[in-house]
Amino acid sequence: MSGLASTNVSKLLNSQNPIILPLGISNVYLIRCEGGYLQVDTGYETNYRGYKNLLSLVGVKLHEIRYLFLTHHHDDHAGFLNELTSETDLTIICHEKARSLLFIGENDKTSGGGYINGMIKILAGIKMRFDPSWTLTFPPFTLREKDILISADDDQLLRKIGIEGRILTTPGHCMDHIAIVLDNGDAFCGDAASSFLLPFGTRYATLFMTNMEDGYRSWQKMLDARAQVIYPSHGKAFSAEKLRQNMGKYKTKDLVRFF
Ligand SMILES: [Zn+2]
Repeated sequence: MSGLASTNVSKLLNSQNPIILPLGISNVYLIRCEGGYLQVDTGYETNYRGYKNLLSLVGVKLHEIRYLFLTHHHDDHAGFLNELTSETDLTIICHEKARSLLFIGENDKTSGGGYINGMIKILAGIKMRFDPSWTLTFPPFTLREKDILISADDDQLLRKIGIEGRILTTPGHCMDHIAIVLDNGDAFCGDAASSFLLPFGTRYATLFMTNMEDGYRSWQKMLDARAQVIYPSHGKAFSAEKLRQNMGKYKTKDLVRFF
């Protein structure tokens, strides 16, 4: 484990809720629920061993992960679903549109969109060139009978499992995106927003977007649900005020096409 990860973990040991597990460029979050924890997302497939190490460092047993809230189907969020579901009996909560996308095992390239700006396209090009493992694919996963599919905003489901908060559908980054806003203002936004690579002008949007206007509508939904602290999948937590300040800065027509 890197020194940075060790520091983060020691900080975590004293923190209450949420528990943050930094897995490379992705954050996995654990939120207390009835009988254990709801986990937000997995990392890449290759992060599984590191994930289990971090879990034991923060004193959480694998079987205590009761739910896996999948914000969307992408490779860095659904990477180790197969391992996790084979070693636990957790229930997955995801958007109904994730079903076919998880079954295919590849980030959706059929809905258009592009990089947020030219600088990010250049950086992504460099990464692709020097990291041949970055293929935007992941091990396909077949959702089970017991998994829970979301098709609209939901104010009941989380409360039934002991979490005071709601689920919002939050398209913009991709079509199957969902997020959590707790009543205390903590928001787990997946890739609906991000503080990753801010010096490159991302303005709190995620590097790749399919539709900016949908994305900003999703930001507004989180603000309307009284989000105060945004916990993104990529980057550090930040004030929801940043969403208000950066709303509408990019347009779908200006995205830099990749596919
Ligand atoms: Zn994503």
